Amino acid sequence: MKKIEHIGIAVSNLEFSNDLFSKLLGKEHYKIETVESEGVKTSFFVVGETKIELVESSRYDSAIAKFIEKKGQGMHHMAFHVDDIKKELERLNKEGFKQIGDIKEGADNKLICFLHPKSTNGVLIELCQEKE
Ligand code: ZN
Repeated sequence: MKKIEHIGIAVSNLEFSNDLFSKLLGKEHYKIETVESEGVKTSFFVVGETKIELVESSRYDSAIAKFIEKKGQGMHHMAFHVDDIKKELERLNKEGFKQIGDIKEGADNKLICFLHPKSTNGVLIELCQEKE
């Protein structure tokens, strides 16, 4: 893994949180993107080498909706940049980490896959590879 690509934060109102984080970070978000397949609407801020991703549920039954219902808003996942997501998953599976589902298209032009927090000390980890 190369670096922390972004930190994902679950929010219940993207418009409100966009304002809040632009005040906090002293800059505007650079994109808003809906990922239909995940049932989320996301917003991205650049902070130095990494990004902040605000994630709002766009469907009542999405994973984010369930997360917020259970735990409330807050830190949701940490995403690592990888060069070859397939290879990295192979390595991690061999080490006993459990991936959630298959590799899929994520926001911000990425191929992504999540690791189950039960296998990673309670931290939801996302791997992301830049799409060509
Ligand atoms: Zn993410």
